[in-house]
Amino acid sequence: MIKLINELEKELTEDFSKIDETSFLNQKKILSAMQTVKLSDSDFAWNTGYGYDDSGREKTESIFAHCFGMEDALVRPAIASGTHALSIMILGLVKRGDIFISITGSPYDTLNATIDELKSVGVDYVEIPLKNERIDTSALIRQIENSASYNNNYIYIQRSAGYDWRSSLSVSEINNVRKIINRKCLLLLDNCYGEFTEESEPDVDIMAGSLIKNPGGGIALAGGYIAGKKELIERVSYRMNAPGIGRHVGSMFGQTRGILQGLFIAPSIVSGALKGAKLCAKVFAKMGYNVNPKPNSNIPSIIQAIKLNSAEEVIAFCEAVQASSPVNSHFTPIPSEIPGYTDPVIMAAGAFVQGSSIELSADAPIREPYIVYYQGGLTYDHAKIAIENSAKQICGLR
Ligand SMILES: *Cc1c(COP(=O)(O)O)cnc(C)c1O
Repeated sequence: MIKLINELEKELTEDFSKIDETSFLNQKKILSAMQTVKLSDSDFAWNTGYGYDDSGREKTESIFAHCFGMEDALVRPAIASGTHALSIMILGLVKRGDIFISITGSPYDTLNATIDELKSVGVDYVEIPLKNERIDTSALIRQIENSASYNNNYIYIQRSAGYDWRSSLSVSEINNVRKIINRKCLLLLDNCYGEFTEESEPDVDIMAGSLIKNPGGGIALAGGYIAGKKELIERVSYRMNAPGIGRHVGSMFGQTRGILQGLFIAPSIVSGALKGAKLCAKVFAKMGYNVNPKPNSNIPSIIQAIKLNSAEEVIAFCEAVQASSPVNSHFTPIPSEIPGYTDPVIMAAGAFVQGSSIELSADAPIREPYIVYYQGGLTYDHAKIAIENSAKQICGLR
């Protein structure tokens, strides 16, 4: 198996050097942001209680804003997850009399309750499914014409696949949406797993994501971010803290250093994970499985979906990933109910940070078609080891 993997790896040389180029450009951007705000070691000190005048927090938020090409950002360890960040972004902005239009089909499963909350306060909600895995721009244009009477049109995009059978959306495809919508529309982005996969981030009004995915570089212990236009960030900060209080309070609980160190190495961590995903696609395609994205896709995606033949293969794949982990390698993952998800889900992860899926992980809802989602890896070598083990395990079943 390893011989075959080494051979397939050689065919990926060109893809890998493209990934390296992106990582280089993002590294430059992050370094420059840190230098521009004059990040100092004294910024890593932290205070208690209200957390007033925390220079580290303020610089962190301005570094993130710069890296995401935005005016402003909120970056907090107290944001518990990506879902939490997305939820305060959405609920902080969208009000009665507005319409919320999701143009990448249904949002990620864990946002169902947030969408229900929107509906219950009198927001109209519309979903436009993807068409051939791409944004249906003509349906979007028709929808905007029909919703001219609303106070605001909030257009929502999920950049990466989640549990859908598709690749990520490219930055240029998202930027194209920006060009075709009018001023009454605000563009909201679920940027989870999208960060630093391309040389710039999409041109949207506001975006949110998790620090235990790409931008935390595997170092951040917890947290989420929201980056966007200044005025929008202000409104979201009232939802995050309290109306009228906003962003000038909130302890960093000593996490500033880890968050920034994680951001600093994020481009190289993301690059390893992208290479792992490519190799995974290549190996399982070679074994005859349908994979998405395809090994020759030119849109970088952290998540690699593989259509396996049975629940048994899904479980075997996940067991092999678990057994290849540095932590909890002796545990066996079993399918179970997880809050926010509709079907039982099997999750393989032996991570240093609980739930950190920029670390090597695999998961799958146990339902037909039997698709497993593979992602992450703090080093490419680790990803390669896990791919070898899971490919062997699956071969053993056949
Ligand atoms: C992971 C993820 C989320 C939710 O993040 P959690 O940290 O798991 O709450 C939302 N959207 C997408 C696309 C994701 O990949």
